[in-house]
Amino acid sequence: MPDRSRAVPKRSPPRRSKALKIHTDDLEQQPLDRYVTLQRSIGRLMAIGKIDVDVDQLIERRFLCDRHRCIQWTPHERKADARPLIDRSCCSTYDVAITESDRQKVEEILPLVRRRLARSHPLHDGTEPFYDIEDDFSLRLRETDRGTCEFVLYEAGRTTCAIHKTCLEEKLDVWEYKPIACSLWPLAIVDYEADGPGAPHTRHLVTAYTNATAGLFEQTADDSEDEGEERFACLVDDAAEYEPLYQAQEGVLRYVLGDAFYDELDRRARQHLGAKRRRRPPA
Ligand code: SF4
Repeated sequence: MPDRSRAVPKRSPPRRSKALKIHTDDLEQQPLDRYVTLQRSIGRLMAIGKIDVDVDQLIERRFLCDRHRCIQWTPHERKADARPLIDRSCCSTYDVAITESDRQKVEEILPLVRRRLARSHPLHDGTEPFYDIEDDFSLRLRETDRGTCEFVLYEAGRTTCAIHKTCLEEKLDVWEYKPIACSLWPLAIVDYEADGPGAPHTRHLVTAYTNATAGLFEQTADDSEDEGEERFACLVDDAAEYEPLYQAQEGVLRYVLGDAFYDELDRRARQHLGAKRRRRPPA
């Protein structure tokens, strides 16, 4: 018979240690986890299967890619060799990270791309279009001395991507050959571990590279001249004549996430935008 008089009653841990656990868990949360938690709590994530769509960035944000908005040209821009005075385009701003499948595709199409590059272009003399980052062994697209991607073409006052142009002219699938980070721009798809019924599981957040989400990514808008302004001109418009970002990026969203996902997103986004219009007080 056990000696009950000496048994120590079970006690739940003191409240202070619970608070400490919550506090340390919170400190260890990554920015992505915090962002997802916050956006979900205020109803700004649209869940479609395992994918969470950022309503602020994809559905309510409007978008127009027009290189004359981010590049300022000299008055002689129509000259064949004209170079822009100021180039604040995404192809001049970001390092482009290259996946292994991007590398294979770019190498496959490179002979066709070279035919569109000037004779003096470094990619003609055997220079690799990639370089590796020693810190983490990842690959990036090579840049010019001005910090612009080597595949940017300046043609009589217009800029274009040599890979994109090659695909269109050779009737190849653009999404197949352009690096995935370029095709998605300004979209970003990031994985995170979600709690929920059962074990933690992986979900995917679809958002965009904007000032509001800069803290989610390694490359932030820290060096933006005015932190209050969007650094890319394509992301500032609220005008009704421009498309919501998800519609402007329909091709690549269908390619990466499938037709069923896009059709459902489009159906629910139209409902969302219709309801928002109806709530707006008359001007
Ligand atoms: S590969 Fe094309 S789209 Fe990508 S950064 Fe270079 S020029 Fe821009």
